[in-house]
Amino acid sequence: MLEALRIWFHRLTGRRFLCDTCRYDYPGACHRPERPNAVSCPDYRRR
Ligand code: SF4
Repeated sequence: MLEALRIWFHRLTGRRFLCDTCRYDYPGACHRPERPNAVSCPDYRRR
C-alpha cells in the first residue's frame, strides 16, 4: 500500500524513477525488488 502511494505520488509530480535512467535497468544486471520503481537506490548509476 505504501509503495502504491509512493508510485502514485511520483507519477503525479512528474518525477521519474531512478531505474528509468539507470544503466542496470534490465533483469540480468539488477536483481533488486524495487526495480523498476526505485526512488532511492545505493547501486544507481546514470547511463
Ligand atoms: S540498480 Fe537501483 S536504480 Fe538501477 S535498475 Fe536496479 S533498482 Fe533501479
